[in-house]
Amino acid sequence: MLKLYNTLTRKKELFRPRKGKKVNLFVCGPTVYDYSHIGHARTYLNFDVIAKYLREKGYNVFYLQNITDIDDKIINRARERKISPQKLARDFEKEYLKDMKGLKIDSVTKYARATEHIKEIISQVERLFKKGFAYQIEDGVYYDISKFKDYGKLSRRTVLQAEDALSRIDEGKEKRNKGDFCLWKISKPGEPKWKSNFVWGRPGWHIEDTAITEKYFGPQYDIHGGARDLIFPHHEAEIAQMEALSGKKPLVKYWIHSGFLTVKGQKMAKSLGNFITIRDFLRNNSPRLLRLLVIKTHYRSPLDYTDNLISQTKRELEKIDEFVGKVKNRVPVGGEGGRRERSSLRPSKFQTEFYKAMEDDLNTPKALAAIFDLINKGNILISQNKLSPTGAKDILAFLRKVDKVFNFIFWKKSKEEIPRALLNLVKQREKYRKEENWRKADEIRRKIKEIGYWVKDTKEGPKIKKV
Ligand SMILES: [Zn+2]
Repeated sequence: MLKLYNTLTRKKELFRPRKGKKVNLFVCGPTVYDYSHIGHARTYLNFDVIAKYLREKGYNVFYLQNITDIDDKIINRARERKISPQKLARDFEKEYLKDMKGLKIDSVTKYARATEHIKEIISQVERLFKKGFAYQIEDGVYYDISKFKDYGKLSRRTVLQAEDALSRIDEGKEKRNKGDFCLWKISKPGEPKWKSNFVWGRPGWHIEDTAITEKYFGPQYDIHGGARDLIFPHHEAEIAQMEALSGKKPLVKYWIHSGFLTVKGQKMAKSLGNFITIRDFLRNNSPRLLRLLVIKTHYRSPLDYTDNLISQTKRELEKIDEFVGKVKNRVPVGGEGGRRERSSLRPSKFQTEFYKAMEDDLNTPKALAAIFDLINKGNILISQNKLSPTGAKDILAFLRKVDKVFNFIFWKKSKEEIPRALLNLVKQREKYRKEENWRKADEIRRKIKEIGYWVKDTKEGPKIKKV
């Protein structure tokens, strides 16, 4: 029974979707004005794992993500670059999707651009006017938070506390309440604008989410996710908009927020010079490493990115790779050929541990611990030559199931990822071959096979292949 921590109730709750096996999941997507950084990668990786896990459990997940392609930041950056906001947004949307693909974040069912849902956004603002929640002043249409008595229920702030230096609150001198947020901005000359019955302008940030989710999911749905800095005011505003519009609550049954990523204890910031884009990371490291690095921390815990963490994670990845190689080696091609059973190692115990951890609010570090436990026990058996082909097959089947969710174990490796130890062995073997020391060369071929690779000698030199 899956339990999820719900920010709305501050409790772990049994997960029960609104309608049978159908799960409607919405996660705040990027504002496409720059390259995404590893903090974004963490958030989207966490929700990728959540979506994949729910699908593995047999849920029919509709994973919807918005793309904020109209926003102050986009307009300002486009002006700096002397290109249109639309061109800038399209370019960085492409880069974002490229990054997601590179990290195998492939669980999103639909990406929805804000600018392609203007009709729905305008309709929401109009309805908020009619219901008395919206008012227009000099620079736009605002939401009157004093009219919505549940305002603050997600972030547990009161209306009076609805301001601080960190939160992105819209300015506007004539606002009725300090915490009122913008629904529709009146465009300044030269800015993109759309026609509405009230005034020409462009959408505020919060309204695009509810307009998009209302279109695809209706007024209520199962899970809303995002990084925890979006709780206030962004997600609070979404509740205020949609619950005021529909009169139905809750807008979202489970609010799930992922933890922050810091770099060496500090918040990532361009001014601090510790800003790491996904592109930067992938220049020196494999995408598999980032997946493992994120998965080994619980999605709600803070993650501090350090050199130490990277080297530790690299060692763990190598350990997993070597183990998988050795286990594959134990499975003979074309069945087991009636060999005598030699081991009692069955992955079922580890499997139970794995799922127990995952069911407990997706405790991925604990789930990984079960896998490392299996690896340690398995390695002992292998070193004693006691792992049977059936045992090996069962282990691989289990790891493949795990990988449907974690998605980093069975990737085809790029050249850089071939362990250094292996490259050294291949070099040594070449030396013996040149010396025509076939006995030594064969011995090394066996060692290479032990760690899961085949060497094939070709005219162009030795070729390495995964077993
Ligand atoms: Zn959002």
